[in-house]
Amino acid sequence: MPLHIHDTLRREKRPFEPRDPSRVTLYVCGPTVYDYAHIGNARPPVVFDVLVRLLRRTYPQVIYARNVTDVDDKINQKASREGVPIGEVTARYEAAYLEDMKRLNVSPPDITPHVTDYIPAIVDQIGAIIDAGCAYAAEGHVLFDVSSYPSYGALSGRNLDDMIAGARVEVAPYKKNPHDFVLWKPSKADEPSWPSPWGEGRPGWHIECSAMIEQTLGLPIDIHGGGIDLVFPHHENEIAQGVCAHGCATKDQAHDEYARYWMHNGFLTVDAEKMSKSVGNVLLLHDLVQAMPGEVVRWALLSAHYRQPLDWNQALLDQSRKALDRLYGALHRSADVQAAEVGPPADFLKSVEDDLNTPGAMASLFALSSEIERGMTAGDHASVAEAKGRLIACAAILGVLQSDPAAWLEGQVSDDLRAEVEVLLEQRASARAAKDWPEADRIRDRLNALNVVVMDGPQGATWRMKG
Ligand code: AMP
Ligand code: ZN
Repeated sequence: MPLHIHDTLRREKRPFEPRDPSRVTLYVCGPTVYDYAHIGNARPPVVFDVLVRLLRRTYPQVIYARNVTDVDDKINQKASREGVPIGEVTARYEAAYLEDMKRLNVSPPDITPHVTDYIPAIVDQIGAIIDAGCAYAAEGHVLFDVSSYPSYGALSGRNLDDMIAGARVEVAPYKKNPHDFVLWKPSKADEPSWPSPWGEGRPGWHIECSAMIEQTLGLPIDIHGGGIDLVFPHHENEIAQGVCAHGCATKDQAHDEYARYWMHNGFLTVDAEKMSKSVGNVLLLHDLVQAMPGEVVRWALLSAHYRQPLDWNQALLDQSRKALDRLYGALHRSADVQAAEVGPPADFLKSVEDDLNTPGAMASLFALSSEIERGMTAGDHASVAEAKGRLIACAAILGVLQSDPAAWLEGQVSDDLRAEVEVLLEQRASARAAKDWPEADRIRDRLNALNVVVMDGPQGATWRMKG
C-alpha cells in the first residue's frame, strides 16, 4: 500500500502523491524560542521525524524545513525582564531545544529558517499581497483583508459570516473587518524593528511561515504539519497569504497552490488535564530527558496515533520503559548473531504507511522480538538473524533502539553498584559451575535485594535494574 495521509483540508485519508517525486517538500511550524519547550511541543517534531524517515525510504530527495520563531512579543517580554538582548534569549532556548531534540533521536531538519533572517522576503510578500488587493495599510499596520479571499475558513471549516457573528477577536479601529489579521505592525522604541514601506516595525506571526516556506521550499509544498491548535488561525491565515501573494484570479480554488497535504497532531494532556501554568502541571521536555532516557519519552509520544489525544502519565512511562526493555533484551540476548540485511516486514510498513499508525507498528516490533527469543531458545540462528535485521530496520524508521543494548539494560547505575554486581555475578557463575546451588541462590537473593534482575542466556548471565 502506498503511503496514505489524512489531510485536514479535505478531511479524508488520501494516497500521498508528491508534486515532484524527485523532490518532496515538508514544512512543520517550529518553536517560538522564549522558554523551554513543554512535552506537548515535542509531539510534532517526533511525529514528523518518523514521517520524514519513512519518506526518505521511497523518495531520493526529501527537503524538510522546521522554522524557529525568533521575533515575538513573549521573547521581547522575557528579554526586557532579564535586561538582556533578544538574541541572548532566543540563542539560549534554541540551543536547549536542539539538545533535547537530539536526546529524542529527532534528526535535524534540512533547513531551519529563522524569522530574523527572512525579513526582506516577508516585506516582499506583504507588498505582493497588497498589490493583489488582499491587504491594506493603516496606522503603521498592514492587515490582511479576509473578505478578499473567498476560501477563507476552508481549512478549519469555518465560515466567515459565522465567525463575524460570534466575533471575539480584538476590534482595532484601523481594521476594516474584525477578522482581518496583522501582516506587519509597528514596534515600540525598545522592541526590535526593521524598515518597511509602512514604517519601522516587525512582522505578524502568520506571515513569517508563508514567506519562509516560499523562500526555502517553493510553492506548492507537499506536506505542511503542526499541532491541531495551529489549524485556526495560523494555518488558515498562512494559506490566505500564500495564495493571495500570487494574485486573486484563481484564489477561490487555489488551496493546492500552497500545500498539498495538511497534517495535524492531536493534543497532549497530563494526567487527563490540559497542561497549563495555572494548573501547575506543565512538564518541560528539558527536565524529562534528564530524568529518563530520551527513547522512553519518544516511545511514549509515539504510542498513540498522532491524530488522537495522548495522555501523559506514569503508567504510560512505565509501559514505554518496559516495551523498550523487552526489545533491547531481545537484541542483547542475540548479541552474537549478526543481523541480516533486510528491510522492515510488510505488516510494519502497512501500519506506518496507513497515516502513520505507530501503535500498530509497535506491535510488529514486539512480534519480531518474540521471534528472536524463540529462535535463540531453539538455536535457530538463521531465523534470529532475519528477525533481528527486520527489527533494526523498523527501529530505524521509528527512531528507537539506537543505544547499545547492554548499556541500556544496565541503565543509569553508579560505578560502585556496577562493580558490586559484576563481582556477585562472577561468584554466582563459580558457584553454579561447582554445582553449589545453595550458594548460587544466596547470591541471587543478594542481587535481588540490590534491585537487580539477572537474565541467564547461552553466553552467560546479563543483568538490568528492576522496573
Ligand atoms: P508553540 O510553541 O505553542 O507555537 O507550539 C509549538 C508546537 O507544539 C505547535 O505545533 C503546537 O501545535 C504544538 N503543541 C503545543 N501544545 C501542544 C500540546 N499540548 N499537545 C500537542 N502539541 C502541542
Ligand atoms: Zn507556522
